[in-house]
Amino acid sequence: MHKRIGDTCGLSPITLVPNLFGYLPRTALALCFAAALLLCAPAQAWGPVGHQTVAMAARAQLTPEALAHLQELLALEPGSTLGGLSTWADEHRSPETAPWHYVNFPQADCNYRPARDCPDGQCIVAVLEAQLRILASRASPPARLQALKWVVHLVADVHQPLHAGMAEDRGGNRYQLQFLLRGSNLHALWDSGLIRHMGLDAPTLAARLARQFWPSSPGSVSVRAAAEESCRIARQPGFYPDALVGADYIVAYSPIVEQRLWLASVRLAALLNRALR
Ligand SMILES: [Zn+2]
Repeated sequence: MHKRIGDTCGLSPITLVPNLFGYLPRTALALCFAAALLLCAPAQAWGPVGHQTVAMAARAQLTPEALAHLQELLALEPGSTLGGLSTWADEHRSPETAPWHYVNFPQADCNYRPARDCPDGQCIVAVLEAQLRILASRASPPARLQALKWVVHLVADVHQPLHAGMAEDRGGNRYQLQFLLRGSNLHALWDSGLIRHMGLDAPTLAARLARQFWPSSPGSVSVRAAAEESCRIARQPGFYPDALVGADYIVAYSPIVEQRLWLASVRLAALLNRALR
């Protein structure tokens, strides 16, 4: 039986936490993480675990108002949940939208320059900013639901360091390596290999991240700043591993994966709290 997290989290938050935007619903967090996230773990392949983790963790940080508006949009597709929508963009890739998932930076410059890095407006920074505008606008509910599908996915993508990688190696896709006795590449290692190695499903990982990091400030919620951060992580010495990825790499970078997933959830919640009202 495939239970949906969203259905279980339909509890009214009562108390508010003052430090994170002044309105984080503590009761919703506690109840959703403790009950829904842990007890209603859907069986998922490892591929979407990162996206669903971000969506589930973000959902538990929404204001009551944003949550109500979210439910209105989700009701347009009965049975849908934020976690379920989070992988829609990868499941509906097309040649036209493939570039929407990333932005390339030069090797030695992580400062986003639209004219250089996104001249046609088809990179993740410009597209995500545009979809956020649609979501917050008075566009039709179906158009806003469509924007939500992009927002929930791309906010996570922009926090994956190799979605702000270099064109030369196609964001690490051309950097071949061996991980746990299997041939892979650096992009796949960061998309899913390191997460799979944690051995957790999305609800469990979301709950663990919340225990570890919550409450957290999102810092900047600028899309371009998030892309620049990702770029800088991917340019750190040692980020590109030896061809045979060792335990030292897993130990060094799994915490970074966790931080990026969590930060994506905090910022996604902040952006949705702003857009859905
Ligand atoms: Zn993507």
